[in-house]
Amino acid sequence: MSDTATTPTNATFDQFGLHADILKAIAEQGYTTPTPIQAKAIPVVLGGRDVMGAAQTGTGKTASFSLPIIQRLLPLANTSASPARHPVRALILTPTRELADQVAANVQSYAKHTALRSAVVFGGVDMNPQSAELRRGVEILIATPGRLLDHVQQKTANLGQVQMLVLDEADRMLDMGFLPDLQRILNLLPTERQTLLFSATFSPEIKKLASTYLRNPQTIEVARSNSTATNVTQIVYEVAEGDKTGAVVQLIRERSLKQVIVFCNSKIGASRLARQLERDGVVATAIHGDRSQSERMQALDAFKRGEIEALVATDVAARGLDIAELPAVINFDLPFNAEDYVHRIGRTGRAGASGDALSLFSPNERKQLADIEKLIKRPLDVQRLTVDAPVRHHHDERGARRDRDDRGSRRRTTGAHERPSHGSHHRQQPVDDFFFKPYEPSPSAAARREEAPAAPQKPASKQPLAALLGGFGMPRKTTSSN
Ligand code: AMP
Repeated sequence: MSDTATTPTNATFDQFGLHADILKAIAEQGYTTPTPIQAKAIPVVLGGRDVMGAAQTGTGKTASFSLPIIQRLLPLANTSASPARHPVRALILTPTRELADQVAANVQSYAKHTALRSAVVFGGVDMNPQSAELRRGVEILIATPGRLLDHVQQKTANLGQVQMLVLDEADRMLDMGFLPDLQRILNLLPTERQTLLFSATFSPEIKKLASTYLRNPQTIEVARSNSTATNVTQIVYEVAEGDKTGAVVQLIRERSLKQVIVFCNSKIGASRLARQLERDGVVATAIHGDRSQSERMQALDAFKRGEIEALVATDVAARGLDIAELPAVINFDLPFNAEDYVHRIGRTGRAGASGDALSLFSPNERKQLADIEKLIKRPLDVQRLTVDAPVRHHHDERGARRDRDDRGSRRRTTGAHERPSHGSHHRQQPVDDFFFKPYEPSPSAAARREEAPAAPQKPASKQPLAALLGGFGMPRKTTSSN
């Protein structure tokens, strides 16, 4: 793979030879110009070749595979009521329910003027409505691996006629322990098929997966593998572990951040932080696998409407979310898996817009920082942050009284290497189980368990076109990997 490329400058959707029904849907979506990944991938996919695409969510990658899939399946579209006339011909696998739902909403809107049927299946919800839909027949199926295998076992999904396969966010699927499920699914598919693999990062495992299951793929990049977006300003703030919550509040206030995703490494950590932020006057909520589907849906909708300032998330819960124009992300913890850093900061500076990725780094996270710098192949700007005790805005009487009582003694300035003062910190908080539970790391093996009831999303809001055209501001190239 090479790192240089020429970006097509005057591409239009008309040049691909897409059917009028597809072009109409594209126009209705408000898209006028293909994004760089679309300009590169659509002709290759239309030509029937396998693709290994390096692109993150936010680059327009969903349309880059969905549009040519719809075009290629159009000759087989029909209005027959017979399920036999609507076998699954294209299968799109995604790691999370949120992403599956998002991709399905896109496919549905791009195919709405055609007779092609699409459906989405993911776990955590009743199988019966999914089974009924599958029995009626669908040409394009979007699925998470586990639930798809459940349907295969129940004979509600037959994959024997799949001619196009998409592995979306393949690196995520491997991180989440889906490799055995993927292998089982791949073994059920016809060997004569077109396979498209999209991944934000190209780890050795991804390359192995590609070399096993793809045939002479064309490599398409809109950002260098394992690179971070150039339009994202990355700052690492060195703070004592015990000052991290105060640091988040301070960054949100000082930078007047109205919408920020704060990443934590564990579900418990995310819940705890959201509660602490609320107590410090930041409108916050946690989104992670232990929350019910309706809670996650409400949290996401409120965040998208701008009613929540800080969405505190674990990696799995935040994966694939398309939240337009997110100005900043904060890493409360540095991720254990360096590749998660690339994914996390990809939530901001989406599709060419600029963004800030702010990371809190405590002295015990040196290894994580070194791993990240190694992966992105450059040192990060590390600054010291002096954290003031937050001014609290409690809504309840008890909280207000506690504030008045405590403020004088709490107010302090900490240096970067000051030891966390857990004792005094706990005295400030009401007694709550969460604060006494041990820290729970989230190893990738546990990640799959976390794939919890999804928050089905509304179709993603549109990005400003100029922003999308900027992609990641990286040199672009289309090369063959062979
Ligand atoms: P994706 O990377 O597929 O999640 O897409 C990110 C966002 O960009 C989604 O909200 C899409 O609806 C939007 N989008 C995709 N392609 C285009 C385009 N050519 N012009 C404008 N918006 C687009």
